[in-house]
Amino acid sequence: TAPAVPGGGAARDLPGWRHVYSGKVRDLYEPVGEHPLGDVVLVVASDRISAYDFVLESEIPGKGEVLTQLSLWWFEQLADVVDNHVVSTEVSVTPGDGLVPAEVAGRAMICRRLEMFPVECVARGYLTGSGLLEYRASRTVCGVPLPDGLEDGSRLPEPIFTPATKAEVGEHDENVSFDVVVSRIGVENAARLRALTLEVYSRAAELARERGIILADTKLEFGVDPVTGEIVLGDEVLTPDSSRFWPADEWQPGRAQPSFDKQHVRDWLVSPASGWDRASGEEPPALPAEVVDATRERYEEAYARLTGTPLAR
Ligand code: ATP
Ligand code: MG
Repeated sequence: TAPAVPGGGAARDLPGWRHVYSGKVRDLYEPVGEHPLGDVVLVVASDRISAYDFVLESEIPGKGEVLTQLSLWWFEQLADVVDNHVVSTEVSVTPGDGLVPAEVAGRAMICRRLEMFPVECVARGYLTGSGLLEYRASRTVCGVPLPDGLEDGSRLPEPIFTPATKAEVGEHDENVSFDVVVSRIGVENAARLRALTLEVYSRAAELARERGIILADTKLEFGVDPVTGEIVLGDEVLTPDSSRFWPADEWQPGRAQPSFDKQHVRDWLVSPASGWDRASGEEPPALPAEVVDATRERYEEAYARLTGTPLAR
């Protein structure tokens, strides 16, 4: 039986590729038989959207393409900071030739298969979300002590590494201390991931800032290339799904910040209009067309502002 796809749909059949796994947003395929590019996987970003740990029944048309194109752009910007897993985005000429199937062109990349570290590598330059909750309880985030007097949206004295352990679909990722990461993957790997994460964050935050966007925080996933033993940046990077992007001219600590992501979705879901009770544990309802459209525009605007060019379709 085929692996389950969150949200209840089925992964599409792609010639030359076998579906092996689906996360909340991405579908992973492996080659059928030997592949000319070596030990690779096909990473396909769907149009699925998750909120409050649910994959919603509504999709955001074009979202997968924005995620993939924005990731590819960032991988290039970061090429001198860290090696990444992308091997090719070339589109098939003949079905089954091992390249990106035409059905998923624009939203898929052929990548080196990595042994992923079981750690979500988060860097934060600003305080909000789960970081803010922990700070309010203990004046720390992932065990990193912080000064008094910070509020929602405050800039931190310096960017910090705040790792989380990966949860199963439907579960919350759990923030952990650096020591927990050390116990999972060893001190050498842990130190390397922390350094790389902070380096990527600094570079990306600087680039975003020049374009009027604050990169409040971001989540990265690294793996080891089993052939070379090298640590490589995998998954997607610096998209509105994995990062908080705030318009710099509207930044104002002490409140929730407007952001280039699924804010419309979350706001609508918890508004009376949705009729959904988050505490009930029930599936959220389908999104109205205007929320879908507003969210699509937000993702596209993030792409255009960061890269300086609207997404060509
Ligand atoms: P979440 O919704 O919390 O992100 P998820 O990470 O399981 O859950 P996706 O991001 O949708 O879901 O799926 C992508 C999956 O592919 C992740 O498990 C990620 O670790 C894995 N992955 C990404 N790049 C590679 C790679 N080069 N080799 C092997 N696995 C990879
Ligand atoms: Mg993921």
